[in-house]
Amino acid sequence: MNDVTQRFKRLVIKLETPQTKTGNGPAVGGKVNNLMLIGAEGKNGKEGKKYIVKGLRGWINHAMMTLAKKQGVEVCHSSEKTETQKGVSLLPEGFHPSGKCYEKGKECIKHRLMGSFTKQSKLKFEPVIIVSNAYKGAIPKYVQQVHIATDKRNALMQHTKTGIQDFGERYFAGDFTLTIEFLEELTKEELGFLLNSILYAQKIGLGASKNNGAGKVIVKEVALQEVIWKSYFGELGKVVEEEKARNLWKEMQEGMKAWAPTNA
Ligand SMILES: [Zn+2]
Repeated sequence: MNDVTQRFKRLVIKLETPQTKTGNGPAVGGKVNNLMLIGAEGKNGKEGKKYIVKGLRGWINHAMMTLAKKQGVEVCHSSEKTETQKGVSLLPEGFHPSGKCYEKGKECIKHRLMGSFTKQSKLKFEPVIIVSNAYKGAIPKYVQQVHIATDKRNALMQHTKTGIQDFGERYFAGDFTLTIEFLEELTKEELGFLLNSILYAQKIGLGASKNNGAGKVIVKEVALQEVIWKSYFGELGKVVEEEKARNLWKEMQEGMKAWAPTNA
């Protein structure tokens, strides 16, 4: 029987976090919730809660902005707005509003990769779905196992040991993989800028509580791969998926060499 075949490239990024907080404790200054509950597996659902790790695209986006600014390259800001309703400027020096460069016909390196409301991104961030490694049931292929637990904390009244409030903050820890699929071919410079930003992202925390050292993410390994993906109907209409991947080390090195802020 015929199959459906697709060929594409992707980055497979192996990451480790000692502790990334979800930020779903009591709201202090508008925390971002980094874990979105998408379902519960297992008997009582307690050990088998599935979450999506949010904020990974924003993390890389932020790293691109910070790196470009350091290197003196003007790129899109994450916002389209230039000022608040009260006329206070929102746009820091070294950035233009998101998508403005594209409208002007002088697209910046970040917009070429990440796009904006006016143009689609070249990169598709695959969802990172996690479940606690205490979970004993069958784990679907697309789910990753990490340590998920609650950090029990309490807020004390000033100069006393009297608790005002007890609360728990969810966090996850361990190794996980982020996959970024390329929807279009990247130029060498684009690949280089993306790889540099991924390395730089280690300097930027993920999620809430970054200030107390939580949210540290270490990039352990990155592989650029060419993938041939195939899907077809097996017995009784069961859908079968197959994929073959090979690493493109040379192309990765060439990308790293190609990115120099001067040719942006
Ligand atoms: Zn731009």
